[in-house]
Amino acid sequence: MKPVNEILNNNKEKLRLTGLSKEELENMALAFGEKKFRASQIASWLYIKSVSSFEEMTDIKKDFREKLSQNAIITDIKIKTKQISTDGTLKYLLEFKDGNTAECVLMRFDNRANLTACVSSQIGCAMGCKFCATGQRGFIRNLEPYEILEQILTIQRDTGLKVTNVVFMGQGEPFNNYQNMMKAIKLINDCLMIGIRRITVSTCGIVPKIVQIAEEELVPTLAISLHAPNSILRKQIMPVEIRHNIEDLKKALKFYTEKTGKRVTLEYILIGKLNDTKECAAELAHFMKDLKCNVNLIPYNPVSFCPEFKKPDKKNIMKFKYILETSGKKVTVRLERGADIDAACGQLRGKVER
Ligand code: SAH
Ligand code: SF4
Repeated sequence: MKPVNEILNNNKEKLRLTGLSKEELENMALAFGEKKFRASQIASWLYIKSVSSFEEMTDIKKDFREKLSQNAIITDIKIKTKQISTDGTLKYLLEFKDGNTAECVLMRFDNRANLTACVSSQIGCAMGCKFCATGQRGFIRNLEPYEILEQILTIQRDTGLKVTNVVFMGQGEPFNNYQNMMKAIKLINDCLMIGIRRITVSTCGIVPKIVQIAEEELVPTLAISLHAPNSILRKQIMPVEIRHNIEDLKKALKFYTEKTGKRVTLEYILIGKLNDTKECAAELAHFMKDLKCNVNLIPYNPVSFCPEFKKPDKKNIMKFKYILETSGKKVTVRLERGADIDAACGQLRGKVER
């Protein structure tokens, strides 16, 4: 982004406020001839109360509010579609300034006060997983830090609710957009005041980045899209296995858990008759034994381009879970959230654009 002063001197382009750090907001206030402390008031309106207009910032003087509306904008992101599931899950398709779209989802689990936003990190994805609608459509571009943050803010503005947890489980491979993801995480933590333990990044297993993130100052929780218990099967469904194999992945996960003390979550899609067998369960239980982890089983959500992949039988899900539990790890089966509105990876965007 251009420096605040430069933008203020150039009338053609308005300054976008969301995505600015506390320091950048302070510089902006000073550039307008205002006191530094105005920045924290503005930050609170932008990130906590999530207003859509400067008029709503009632503790800011009128003439400063007018200057702000002449020179700055709060957002330039549009809600293209919004779907509400019978279970309360909300799914948004957002349109960015360049016309590209990405989705984000708001989930409420049980009656708990937690509100989880699921955000996208890229438009499309280059990793090409066989079961994934996003992966099959290829990569378009990385999202900027403010575009990641804006997904949460748009949800907050639209619902009037405050998001408490964030998961990077929408479109894209967050570790292929590492710097922007880390900047977004810092903003989410600093400005939206969401604790780092409430931020989870899901990756298909980019080994060097797992090592790198373990050494960051701010380390989010890690979820790994494992989906197969051995290299041969994983290669069939996830091309990433060719570059970063499951043995190296395990070494990196051990490094992460030892360095950070955190547990990792293994995500495992159960695809009927492919990876949902007793043998796979036993092999996965063995894989997990010496790893500080828990596992989340995800019944496969069929996508039209991939008719050879089927949903698992309900009986097999329970058998698989039972075998895994012999490893002593916590095993959960992901509830189908928003199944009636296609709130699974990449599906809404696919439908709107087809
Ligand atoms: N690229 C990252 C983040 C995306 S998370 C990653 O892969 O981890 C999206 C999650 O949804 C991943 O665990 C992905 O494997 C899963 N997913 C993709 N397609 C799916 C489908 N058809 N059914 C169920 N889960 C799916
Ligand atoms: Fe990309 Fe994740 Fe989909 Fe694989 S599952 S193609 S890594 S978004």
